Amino acid sequence: MTPVATLELRPGKERSLQRRHPWIYAGAVARVIGRPAPGDLVRVVGADQRFLAWAAFSPESTIRARAWSFLEHEIPDDAWLSARVAASVARRAHLTRRTDAIRLVFGEADSLPGLIVDRYADQLVVQLMAAGVDARREAIVDALVTATGASRVYERSDAASRQREGLPSREGALRGAVPVAAVDIIEDGVRYQVDVVRGHKTGFYIDQRDNRRRLAQLAAGKRVLNCFCYTGGFSLAALSAGAAAAWSIDSSAEALAVAKTQQALNSIDSPAHWIQGDVFDALKRFAADGQRFDLIVLDPPKFAPSVQHLDRATRAYKQLSLAALRLLEPDGRLLTFSCSGAVSVDLFQKVVAGAVIDARVDAQMLERLAAGEDHPVSMTHPEGEYLKGLLLARL
Ligand code: SAH
Repeated sequence: MTPVATLELRPGKERSLQRRHPWIYAGAVARVIGRPAPGDLVRVVGADQRFLAWAAFSPESTIRARAWSFLEHEIPDDAWLSARVAASVARRAHLTRRTDAIRLVFGEADSLPGLIVDRYADQLVVQLMAAGVDARREAIVDALVTATGASRVYERSDAASRQREGLPSREGALRGAVPVAAVDIIEDGVRYQVDVVRGHKTGFYIDQRDNRRRLAQLAAGKRVLNCFCYTGGFSLAALSAGAAAAWSIDSSAEALAVAKTQQALNSIDSPAHWIQGDVFDALKRFAADGQRFDLIVLDPPKFAPSVQHLDRATRAYKQLSLAALRLLEPDGRLLTFSCSGAVSVDLFQKVVAGAVIDARVDAQMLERLAAGEDHPVSMTHPEGEYLKGLLLARL
């Protein structure tokens, strides 16, 4: 593949690429030499014409190009792409001992900007969120099939990020048939059913795997409350590990229906209460009724899609943690999460500390929680970190 154009940066704007940050903002570009099409490979040079990176061109986005390689001799042709996909898949190979739901490629963190690939048993789900990976879709799918042996690949390219790239939203089968039924997966011995066509994200919150296991380790004989349960991942992990009973709340009737099916699939007999409704209201009701729990999970949706929403989001995170702390038995445990990238680990800890103070309880932080290792964070692209949580003990 020969690059069709050169992107020349303005003086002083080469620093972030030299520090291996993969994003080139429109404001850093002095001129484009040639006529690259969306997604085309471009050679990025500094004002002094020195090579900086090979990147994929995104004419519509404020992130005007995303760097794929910082080495001049490493031209990202199809063979390079295939090797990079294979390496990303190989890095996760050991996880197959625990699960067949694995994020195989996590965008910038795997040096494949804009590409998300999740595996559910024999089914792959691909999200092509940037012009560069969209233009190379055929080569990417070939590489994935070769690296995994999977026979089905379904595309679920997230609408919002594609819009920023000037790309239409796209869904459909790229290999094999469109999945008509949910895909069965097993994680740490628990069976789940993943609807890759209609489910959230690519169908399942793969990123919470280690935290489901952490909860399971604490669950034996306990009364568990799982807020924002979606299809009940945390609840099923806890019940399978011997929780005495679980109360799970979500506003989505469809998600709760899947949760109930999964409960049957795992032959769980302990009491499982699936409650459709608003978590904020339910927490008030539990408080009024004098209900108490040993273990509470708070895993709400992304309250802060961007920094503009930080104020409202931090208030909501605080309100939830405060209400949960008041419902915890002494020596109970709280797992509280935020998946908002705009809320830093430090800020989240401060917000939860505020809730502890207002709840007038003593609490210890036992652990910081994060997404599993198949959702790594690039050391040179810390913006990729999004899921954070705290495991607290109420004294
Ligand atoms: N904890 C889940 C993922 C949560 S996603 C898991 O591990 O699988 C967020 C969920 O919150 C969604 O299922 C959504 O339906 C639900 N939700 C959003 N706002 C809500 C509210 N105010 N009350 C109850 N559920 C809500």
